[in-house]
Amino acid sequence: MKVCRRCKIEKNQFNFYSEKHGLCKDCKRVDNAIHRRKNIAHYRWLDRQRWKFNTDGLFRKREYIRNNKKYYADLKRVWRRDNPEKMTAYNRLYRAIKKGLVKKGACQTCGEFPTTAAFRDYFLPLNVAWFCFKHHKQEVSKIKTTQPLLDLHPQVAERI
Ligand SMILES: [Zn+2]
Ligand SMILES: [Zn+2]
Repeated sequence: MKVCRRCKIEKNQFNFYSEKHGLCKDCKRVDNAIHRRKNIAHYRWLDRQRWKFNTDGLFRKREYIRNNKKYYADLKRVWRRDNPEKMTAYNRLYRAIKKGLVKKGACQTCGEFPTTAAFRDYFLPLNVAWFCFKHHKQEVSKIKTTQPLLDLHPQVAERI
């Protein structure tokens, strides 16, 4: 039997993580939970920052785009040429937002901002779902089946 340093309760050896541990498992678990909670913001921040920088600490994406300007310009041009209906949908949606007919929503998965629109159908450009950057990638495949249609009068929608 052994007495826990903190709760002063005498417990058998199976209630301690090791012979040397002064804290019983219950007290240690509380400590671990507190530590994790205290540092969760830091760990999340670290995760968010990691992708942006390469090992030298340089801002990776900006650097990469700068070095591949022509490639990105071509990519954009080709995409626009190949996806005229998507361009139109995008323009109509953002005009509608400017006019106040559609409001940018919080992410439908986590409730965070900023969000980008996920189109259900490019010919119904106002019927979009809103997702943050992270969930946009994950959820975009499910939109067609799960999101309710935006209720705008067709004539109103048509004028945008
Ligand atoms: Zn204890
Ligand atoms: Zn989200």
